Parts: sequence; C-alpha cells; structure tokens
Amino acid sequence: MARDYPLEKVRNFGIVAHVDAGKTTTSERLLFYTGMSHKIGEVHDGATVTDWMEQERERGITITAAAITCFWSPTYAKDDESKKHRFNVIDTPGHIDFTSEVQRSMRVLDGAVVVFDGVAGVEPQSETNWRYAEDANVPRVCFINKLDRTGASFERSYKSILDRLSKKAIRLQIPIGEEDAHEGMVDLLTMKAYYFEGQMGVDVVAKDIPDNLKADAEKYRGELIERIVEQDEDAMNAYLEGTEPSLDALKTLLRKGVIANEIFPVLCGSALKNKGVQLVLDAVVDYLPSPLDLPPAHGTNPDNGEDLYRPASNEEPFAALVFKLQTDPFVGQLSFFRVYSGMVKTGDTILNATTGNKERIGRIVRLQADKREEIKEVHAGEIAAVVGMKEAKIGQTLCATDAPIELEKIVFREPVISMRIEPKTKADQEKLGVALSKLSDEDPTFRVNTDEETMETIISGMGELHLDIIVDRLRREFGVDASTGKPQVAYRETIQGTAEAENKYIKQTGGKGQYGHTKIRVKPMEPLPEDEKEREKYLRTVDREDHFEFINSIKGGVIPSEYIPAVRKGVREAMERGIVAGYPMVDISVELYDGSFHEVDSSEIAFKISGSQAFQDATKRAKPVLLEPMMKVEVVTPEAFMGDVNGSISSKRGLVESMGERGDARVITAKVPLSELFGYTTDLRSMTQGRASATIEFSHYSVAPSNIAEEIKSARQ
Ligand code: GDP
Repeated sequence: MARDYPLEKVRNFGIVAHVDAGKTTTSERLLFYTGMSHKIGEVHDGATVTDWMEQERERGITITAAAITCFWSPTYAKDDESKKHRFNVIDTPGHIDFTSEVQRSMRVLDGAVVVFDGVAGVEPQSETNWRYAEDANVPRVCFINKLDRTGASFERSYKSILDRLSKKAIRLQIPIGEEDAHEGMVDLLTMKAYYFEGQMGVDVVAKDIPDNLKADAEKYRGELIERIVEQDEDAMNAYLEGTEPSLDALKTLLRKGVIANEIFPVLCGSALKNKGVQLVLDAVVDYLPSPLDLPPAHGTNPDNGEDLYRPASNEEPFAALVFKLQTDPFVGQLSFFRVYSGMVKTGDTILNATTGNKERIGRIVRLQADKREEIKEVHAGEIAAVVGMKEAKIGQTLCATDAPIELEKIVFREPVISMRIEPKTKADQEKLGVALSKLSDEDPTFRVNTDEETMETIISGMGELHLDIIVDRLRREFGVDASTGKPQVAYRETIQGTAEAENKYIKQTGGKGQYGHTKIRVKPMEPLPEDEKEREKYLRTVDREDHFEFINSIKGGVIPSEYIPAVRKGVREAMERGIVAGYPMVDISVELYDGSFHEVDSSEIAFKISGSQAFQDATKRAKPVLLEPMMKVEVVTPEAFMGDVNGSISSKRGLVESMGERGDARVITAKVPLSELFGYTTDLRSMTQGRASATIEFSHYSVAPSNIAEEIKSARQ
C-alpha cells in the first residue's frame, strides 16, 4: 500500500540538552508552532496560548511522550503544501542519570537539535550527550537558547562549543542584541534580520540587517560560506574564482555537510521569549536528514549470524526496533518502535527476533500534539507505537516471520550502584514486585534482583539519584511505600597479567567415574581491531561477549567438541563469582588450548568443573585486581568556596581535572570514586550555604588502590 507521506519529507529527530537549558520550553514552542500550522484559526479565535497548553496537558499527551508527530512547513514556504514535512520528535530525557536513555534514543533518531543555555554554554551533560551523538553519527544543529537572560553571551557559548565539543560547529546566525536587548537574529545565508511578532511571536518577519551588525554579519558569512563550499570541489573552485553559489545551492551543500557530520550549524534565540524557534524548525527541514539520506540499517540473521543490510524502503521485508515502553493514561501500555524497512499493519503476525517468539500486532497509534491518531499501518522510516504488546522489551527487534533479522543491539551500561529495598507493609509487598518489574522494563539500566542468601530485593541503577527517583516514583505513581538500605557500590574484578593453568578433575568412586582435563590461558581482553575486515576475521575465531571472550584452540579432538561448551560454562560461572572479593570479573580473554578425555568417564559436568577450577587457578596468578566505578563530577561554585570544594574533592580520593570560569561562577571538574560520593550533593550544599551545585555521572571503572581493595575484601568476608 502507498505511504501516506513521502519519506524524504520525514524528519525523525530529538531535542537534546543539559537539564534546564530549555528543552521543555523549546519543545512546547515546537508543538505550539507546528500545531498552529493547521489550527491557526482556532487559536486566534480567542483561546489563549496558555489555555491551549493546559488543554494539551489535560488530554494526557505531554511533551514527555516518547515520540510525537507533527507537521511543519518552513517559514519561507508557509503556504506551499508541497513543502510540508512530517516531524517525529523523539524524547530524550534531560536527567543526568538517564543519559543512557539519550544514548538509546540516538539509535532511533536521524538528527538532533542540541540546546544550550546561553549563559552557561556547554555543560557536562552537553558533553556526554554530544559524545553519544558522535558515537551514533547523528547529524546535529545547535541552538544557543536563553539569550534574553542576564549574563547571556552568544559568542562565549559559541566558543565553548568550539572548544569543548567540536571545531566543526559554525555560526549560521548571530543574535540581534543580548540580555534585555535581545530582539531576534541575523541569518547569515539569507542575510536578513528576523523578528517575531504577534501573539507568541507567531509571525516571523524578515527585515534588513541593523547597521551596527552589518560588518559582523559580512565577516561571519564569509567564514560560513568558505566552510560550505568545502563540501564540493566545483563550488569551491567557482568560489575561489569569485562566483558565490546561489542561496539554494548553498543550502543544498550545507545540508550535505550536516548529514556527513562535517558541519554543525549554530543557531540562537530565546525559546521563552518566542524568538528563533521557528527558524530552528526550518533548519530541521533544511539540514537534518530524512531516513532516505542514511545508510541502510545493519543487522544479523539470528539463524546463522550472517550480516544483513536493510535500506529504508517499503519493498524490503519488515524490520523494526522497540526503543521505549511507556504507559499512556488513556490507552495503556505503548511500545514505541522505529521501522527501518518494510511495513507492518494492525493484525499482522511478526517475529520478535530477539526472543524467537511470534506476536500479533494490535492497535497502532501515533501521538500528535492534540490527539492519539489510530493508524492501520506503519512504513519504513516511520515511528509509531503498538498498544498492549505483551512481550517486546526495549532494544528488541520485530521483523517479518519469513525474513528474520536482528538489528544491532542497543548496548546498555551496567548499573554501578545497588541497594536493598523492603516494603513497609504486607500490602506494599505485593504492589512492590509489580511496580519494580514495570519500572525495570521501562528502563534497562534499572535492575531488580533477589539476594539468594538473604532473599532480599536488591535494586540497581546508574547513581544515587537514579535510585532516589525510582523510590520516589514507587511512592507517587504506584502508591508503594518502601524503605531502602545503604547504597552499595558495584565493584568489578579483572586481571592485569597473563597466566596458564592445568586442571585434571578425576573421581573414581565405585561405578562410573569422572574425568575432565583442561589447560587454559587467561589474559586481559583487548579491544576489537579498528579495521572492519580485521574485526570480522577476528570475530570468526572467538566467541566474544561484551566483557568476555572464549577462544577454542583445541586441535585433533583432544577434547571432543561436545564438551567444549561445558568448559566455557564452567569458566563463565567462575567469572561471575570473582576471586578477589567475590565481585564479577570483566574483560578477560580465556583460551582453551589443550586437555584430554576418557572414553567412559568424561562428562559435561566433569569438564565444567575442570574449566572452572583451571580458570580460578590461572586468574589467581594473573595479577587480579579490584575495579571501582569512577564518576565524573562537575561542581559550579562561587569563587569564595573554591578552596572548600577543592579540599572536599581531594579528601574523597578525587582528582581535579580542570578549573574554569563560567560567567561569575567557577567550575571544577574532577574524577571521584563513587564509593566516596554518597551524600555528596547534600554535603556540598551545606558546605557552601546552598550556593554550589554538582552534577555527577558515571565515567569509567578503574583499579582500586590496594589499601582500599583490602578494606573492601575484609568487609566482604
Ligand atoms: P529543560 O530542563 O531543559 O527542559 O528546561 P526548561 O525548558 O524546563 O527550562 C528551564 C528553565 O529555564 C525554566 O524556568 C524556563 O522557563 C527557563 N527558560 C527556558 N528557556 C528560556 C529562555 O529562552 N530564556 C529564559 N530567560 N529562560 C528560559
């Protein structure tokens, strides 16, 4: 069946920002202006804008929906129906402990608008999010917001983008006035000044550039054009000979540069004061990619591991990725998915390639600003939600039953902190289990386990705040009262050396005996080869997981192949138990290189035990160490408290990495072990009369100093 909208006019994008930079305000304006494009009469007929927003909220569709669909015709072609674009705006959470959600959404969005606070410029989370976008090759346009605020500076913020994020950023606009005097912006391509008039600034008015900005505009336009023509040799040569490309040609080339991640155009304005958001939406149309501009989706055939590529076309078999589960107050559980190829209809039976189970597609909806639109089918490149899907979890692939494919997995971080949780009453007990399993379905970095020894429920997440928020949600959304224990750090273990070990597991107790004999070699796991061919070659020779690899070098059947998986299993289980202080071991490469078997006595269990013991022997001699999670901490403080803050960081085994200024405030960044940080935000507040604030996020695991490792070891015993 034909698609209802041409794919080249679809934009799947997200708005990404540090908390408080203005993502919510920008999204609200986006919904308002896009709603206006087909409801302009209605709104002008009396209802105030705030009413309109209030109603949106009452309808239960908020800007926090996982994906919202809306339509936008660029301001320069308002009445041209053929220029109308469909936006699927994918929510990316702003909170630091949920950065993994940002990482996950990067997988399904094709482009991003990165919002910055015009006073603070680049903030720590902007850096993290930028890195995720970089990893996922997501094209970006930057929006320096809040230029109306006291202390705002476009140039300073722009420079912080260049210094801290990318030299490929370039001004597409410059502001007309800042702080109280902020009125609009100059677009350096059209060389017009833009102002926003009427209610909510709905009327975008282009005027001549004010005299005092003409020189700057010329200068920065020159820089911009040079960068743009670099995208094309002919344009470059023509430009060097004095011929500037036409406006349309410049836009086309800039689009090419943005899609290739070679240029990040920087726009500016004030969402709150209704200045500039429409031009950001124009930039989404003009410069961010449609699904057709992107390479085919990569996946593997779950049956044989063969690589498969699926272009965004309805002619291909159906393949989609579930990226978010959300409960809608009116229709219930929604599973949001992105279709990469083919199409799916209500009533179709599809395969969940990750679980191997089949499931029927029920109602399909698309959330719009003012309604839930029920649709019958979803096409390649589009985003929608299925109601009441039972099985599908975040990150799983749905596909045609006769063309199985598992799309590249979304890799989630492992939780770094855990705590005991206990219901306050018997009634809470029943609700707790249900609520926790729901919350962990929605958020793959939040895990729930049972301590096998004490039978207590343990919750784990990405930071203290992450778990605090979960406990708060338990109370508010699920009405469950629970008390929690002290947070525990998720330590890990690894080895720093190489060692070999031989183990013979032989038992002769009457009847049938046991015989398993293995020789293994352990070493620290190395990163995969950069080169794609090399990497594929390597992966054919090993059995590799995220933090473990197993190499089978048994020749001539000295151990029959049916026993090899048992050896691997023994090793894997021993790894989970650790050998330093009982924490899981990571990043170890294990090679099974020799051994022997017995015709009668050998069994899977004997080989499993032998593998496990050989592994423990070997790792004990391979310089085992304890790893502790390190957090990236950024403290923003008045200068007067610099000394105290620095002192508090060094007393926590922290390492200050940089000190800088942000407006009047001082900014300290440091790496600090998580175990030292419990309660730090509270301590910091009392130490600085509430004037300093910290953002804390997971950075990496590093080897714990030996005295600390000893303490942890004895605490575990
Ligand atoms: P989010 O946390 O990124 O979603 O940020 P919000 O949109 O909630 O904005 C955080 C605060 O900044 C709110 O108090 C907003 O009213 C305010 N804000 C957002 N945009 C602007 C702006 O352009 N100018 C000013 N002065 N304040 C803004």
